Amino acid sequence: MERTLSLIKPDGVARNLIGEVIKRFETAGIKIVAMKKLHLSRKQAEGFYAVHKERPFFNSLMEFMTSGPIVAMVLEGEDVIAHNRKLMGATNFKEAEEGTIRRDYATDIEKNVVHGSDAPETAAFEISYFFNSMEIVG
Ligand code: UDP
Repeated sequence: MERTLSLIKPDGVARNLIGEVIKRFETAGIKIVAMKKLHLSRKQAEGFYAVHKERPFFNSLMEFMTSGPIVAMVLEGEDVIAHNRKLMGATNFKEAEEGTIRRDYATDIEKNVVHGSDAPETAAFEISYFFNSMEIVG
């Protein structure tokens, strides 16, 4: 069993897509083992996306990610890091496969509804960024 971090970004929360996203995870057999709603500060968003701080889109991404509340979840399942990335679809929704969350709901390369960890090391960092061990109930 593997774990990954999923975020429903401010656009997804603002557009009432929380249930839609969760439904896709549950239908796919993925367990939600932790969940919370929060509104990131600039510092918290910068810490989370520190790997992107030199990228040209960083400032805009920070404005977006702090623009409203998000939902953070820990997902659990077999190969759930890759499974979640498959359900999400490509970063750019125009390149995302049909039936993926981003293809169906993203409006922009930035406003793409969901985040998901991309590797075991990033999953470990990202899960611990939002949750302590007592908040994860497997
Ligand atoms: N992003 C953006 N412009 C880009 C690439 C990425 O605004 O050209 C944003 C987008 O919201 C994306 C996030 O930055 O989800 C993180 O980028 P990454 O390449 O890690 O994509 P992801 O892992 O989210 O698919």
